[in-house]
Amino acid sequence: MTKTLDIAVFNGDGIGPEIMTPTLAILEKLAATSGAYQLAFNILPAGATHYAETGESLPAASLEAARNADAILLSAMGLPSVRYADGTEISPQIDLRKAFNLFAGVRPVRAVAGPLTPLKIPQDKVIDFVLIRESTEGLFHTQGTGTVTENAAEETLRITRAVSEDLFRFAFSLAGDRKAQGRGPGRVTCVDKANVFRAFAFFRALFDAEAKNHPELRADHAYVDATALWMVQKPWDFDVMVTENMFGDILSDLGAGLMGGLGVAPSADIGLHQAVFQPCHGSAPDIAGQGKANPFAMILSGAMMLEWLGLKHDMRELVTDGARLRDAVDDVIAQGDVLTGDLGGTATTAAAGNAVLVAL
Ligand code: ATP
Repeated sequence: MTKTLDIAVFNGDGIGPEIMTPTLAILEKLAATSGAYQLAFNILPAGATHYAETGESLPAASLEAARNADAILLSAMGLPSVRYADGTEISPQIDLRKAFNLFAGVRPVRAVAGPLTPLKIPQDKVIDFVLIRESTEGLFHTQGTGTVTENAAEETLRITRAVSEDLFRFAFSLAGDRKAQGRGPGRVTCVDKANVFRAFAFFRALFDAEAKNHPELRADHAYVDATALWMVQKPWDFDVMVTENMFGDILSDLGAGLMGGLGVAPSADIGLHQAVFQPCHGSAPDIAGQGKANPFAMILSGAMMLEWLGLKHDMRELVTDGARLRDAVDDVIAQGDVLTGDLGGTATTAAAGNAVLVAL
């Protein structure tokens, strides 16, 4: 029996719609070929362009449709030229994170295909790890509400038991899934600064408590400064890494750098009930409308969505198609003749998307 999955789609701003078009075409093709599932795309209005036209950045109807969807696929959003009255940018992706409590920011770091990474990878090593960034508290707790007086500025670092327990449960579960798929040894590293801050000692203690529930997985710790060093010196040693919001924000850009840039960096924001899949990069207004944008980060986010849906609904076909799609993008990158400008090529967005279809 064919299972129909409702996918809420936000086309985004700038290059957003351009990179979403080939992504939806590829996902549709995979679903049609599989026969096991169908993807019902529900295109929802939101974003900076929508705000400029209507005065609404994330309509209530879009939020509700996203809440009830099986997954949310979101392209790059926001434009520096369109802002709220207080000067801040339109960012429905952050509104969704807050509305749905999407505490786990999942950032896979892979440089399997090799040619794009600035590192020299030994022949017998593969960079394939996942960074999980807590996305609702930490040092972003007072975001926009910190206090500033003439002589001092203060922000608060907040770590809660409830969010941390969900976060660590998610991290160990992901490490278990990866181990079952043969993609990692089943190891979770808690990245913190427990030697300096009591809040991080608390974070680490909660991590250790969750680790006890997973004797089949390895658990260890690393300080965030040492982690930055090791991510450059021996990134192939990591499997699943879990950390606080601000540390994760910084380390995930380092991870994107290891992969060869933002154009190939996908991500997911996952909560207990909803999940949003989107590229790490912004809406690149400097190249919008020119057919030059790299669609790979968006397509790889689509691949993550298939895998997540497959694990959630216990459907192997979806997990397999997610992996196939990832491999197809790897193949196109490894061949190197149909790459967009950011990766050193001259291909159009459409040609790069088509190359992935051919590779599939
Ligand atoms: P945000 O703060 O919204 O994440 P940003 O200011 O970090 O955005 P981006 O929009 O990500 O910036 O763009 C940064 C640079 O990377 C720009 O020069 C842009 O053209 C380039 N870029 C980003 N995404 C892509 C892409 N998919 N393809 C090609 N170039 C891209």
